[in-house]
Amino acid sequence: MDLGLQGKWALVCGASRGLGWGCARALALEGVNVLMVARRADVLQEAADAIRAERGQDPAAEVVVCAQDITTEAGRAAVFATRSDFDIVVTNAGGPPSGNFRDWEREDWIRAVDANMLTPIALIKATVDAMAERGYGRIINITSSAVKAPIDLLGLSNGARSGLTGFVAGLARSGIAAQGVTVNNLLPGAFDTDRLNGLFAAAAQKSGQSVDALAAQRRKGIPAQRFGTPEEFGAVCAFLCSAQAGYITGQNLLVDGGAFSGAF
Ligand code: NAD
Repeated sequence: MDLGLQGKWALVCGASRGLGWGCARALALEGVNVLMVARRADVLQEAADAIRAERGQDPAAEVVVCAQDITTEAGRAAVFATRSDFDIVVTNAGGPPSGNFRDWEREDWIRAVDANMLTPIALIKATVDAMAERGYGRIINITSSAVKAPIDLLGLSNGARSGLTGFVAGLARSGIAAQGVTVNNLLPGAFDTDRLNGLFAAAAQKSGQSVDALAAQRRKGIPAQRFGTPEEFGAVCAFLCSAQAGYITGQNLLVDGGAFSGAF
């Protein structure tokens, strides 16, 4: 299927690894020009090189990098100084740490809300009206299955992402819906990335169990009996960005191998 994405411009955040990388890769393979953002220039460059090598020569489409912290105003200003108009924006940053809410202070909450709620909103604010004027736009927020099925130890994530989810539900149904702009959230379950491995490492330290034992236990609880891959997550993202997905907006799409146990 031709997704109709050739020549579009995408901003993909948290793109050097994991799910953001998967989205940048899938879009680039569809002929989208991609601006990849992450904090570490060397890792980002390597990630972009891998995508360029896989895609081969295509003079009409570019893979550009911008090493910035997307959760800061200065970082976002530097990104938009590189390029300001995008047809596609994938918002993403590292997830907040796990822990016991009794240990979290106001600063911990502010950091989580800043990274996982206010940063996506700032990115949307900076791009959505120009998308609407041009009559095409796709905004994808990478959130978490924890929005639908909150996980006790991920309280910072549950809270901050729920705020974003509420905001997006209203925005997606505003005037922009009639102007060709869709806004959707992708809710990953367990994906084989540094983030997941970091959470296992933290849990292993607390429980005394090995990382392998914890990972095996988690896999058993997923109907697909495995973790997802960044490549398959990216493919879902590319479809949601496609011309064909123009009638899908305001949705929270679980990509979790069936882990959420509910009919809806
Ligand atoms: P990851 O840690 O593997 O990768 C995160 C990427 O974001 C990296 O490229 C990192 O460099 C970049 N990044 C982090 N903070 C940044 C910042 N401030 N500015 C710019 N770039 C930044 O994480 P992942 O597994 O790909 O997860 C992506 C998102 O999805 C996270 O918010 C995570 O909490 C969420 N999530 C992941 C899973 C999973 O199983 N992997 C499950 C549920 C939710």
